[in-house]
Amino acid sequence: MYTSEEIARLKELDRALIWHPFTQMKEYVAEDAPIIAAGEGCYLIDIYGRRYLDGVSSLWVTVHGHRVAAIDLAIQEQLGRIAHSTLLGLGNIPSILLAEKLVSLAPLGLKKVFYSDNGSTGVEIALKIAFQYWRNTGQPQKKRFLSFYNAYHGDTLGAVGAGGIELFHHIYGPLVVSSLKVPSAYCYRCPYGDAGTEDCRRDCFGAVARTIEAHAPELAAVIIEPLIQGAAGMLTWPPGYLRHLREICDAYDVLLIADEVATGFGRTGKLFACEHEGVSPDLMVVAKGITGGYLPLSATLTTERIYEAFYADYAELKTFFHGHTYTGNPLACAAALANLRLFKEVKLIEKLQPKIARLQELLVGFWDLPHVGDIRQAGFMVGVELVKDKETKEPFPLARRTGRRVILKAREKGVIIRPLGDVVVLMPPLAISEEELSHLCEVVAVSIREAAG
Ligand SMILES: *Cc1c(COP(=O)(O)O)cnc(C)c1O
Repeated sequence: MYTSEEIARLKELDRALIWHPFTQMKEYVAEDAPIIAAGEGCYLIDIYGRRYLDGVSSLWVTVHGHRVAAIDLAIQEQLGRIAHSTLLGLGNIPSILLAEKLVSLAPLGLKKVFYSDNGSTGVEIALKIAFQYWRNTGQPQKKRFLSFYNAYHGDTLGAVGAGGIELFHHIYGPLVVSSLKVPSAYCYRCPYGDAGTEDCRRDCFGAVARTIEAHAPELAAVIIEPLIQGAAGMLTWPPGYLRHLREICDAYDVLLIADEVATGFGRTGKLFACEHEGVSPDLMVVAKGITGGYLPLSATLTTERIYEAFYADYAELKTFFHGHTYTGNPLACAAALANLRLFKEVKLIEKLQPKIARLQELLVGFWDLPHVGDIRQAGFMVGVELVKDKETKEPFPLARRTGRRVILKAREKGVIIRPLGDVVVLMPPLAISEEELSHLCEVVAVSIREAAG
């Protein structure tokens, strides 16, 4: 494939020039990470031709796998027409057809589509629309947001203000407008001391209700990752929580923003996580899986009611003054359309159900592994929390880098995964076979045994 000189040169340039995201470069330059040259199905292939099972869907995006003929072709066909034209004052065909598709699939009531190119900007758009909605409708005092501890909504400053992960967000505190925050349901380490027991008093339900009630006059919206907080380490909400939140928001006239960037497009076993609880948010942000993992694209969907509040004579200055250069990019929208067509053609959601059950079975064995404190799953989103002491739940020291050790072990064995601190994450492509799924779990279990023990 590549000569040894070419490989040496690529490695050197990667180390010399690239500042990798969410990466301590001092560790990266020392570890000889693979450089990916190609992909096939659920596998990544590096410059040596070594194959790795893609256990995190290339950061939670891959749906049908890599090099999917129908999506490749859709992009090629679109290339034969045009790669990009702007949505600022002009239309383009794939963005129109995709909006039709998204509205037909989204929870009831979501009728308008605002595009951008990543999850963070999709969230910014939702926050700004919610804020301006109340201004445009004569209630400018409703300008604060409520979010949750352990929330992750992206890395741009508005999204960081709504974020609640100490490690990522604390340092930027002075830069952002911080949201009002209530504890999330980290049942394994329950902030109310219920610790996921059967006699759980559901204190987290009461806490969010009381906070919204107390602050409703100044609250524009609540933003939540429905069903599961992903980046925090796969923290699943108790059943009924999202529905409960919808009811409180309705009762106190506060908008609900569902950040489905991670959970959207089948990841939790339904097309959108909101469907599990029959909830329609006022704003919904989707990104990651929307193009099947091919191209950057996001969409912020909203209701007729919100759209109407911006629809006015220009001089009223109710316009939504926001847009990104590549908003509604035709290539990305064409990829998304092909991705969504495939959902239907291959009966993806239907075929996913037995695989989710199989994954759950495979994970049962993990409880016996040393240092596995908790296992959390929502569909194809899994977090295995490693702790120093299973009895006391004492975490490993930060400097031990236990999660990282596990993923390096797995990589030696041909599996790519990525940890969130000491939570080992499994996020396989939705198209993975049961055989590949077993292999993934086997390798991860052995890696935990070797690296954590
Ligand atoms: C990944 C993620 C984002 C940010 O998306 P980017 O495309 O990385 O900007 C926002 N919200 C959630 C829930 C995510 O998982």
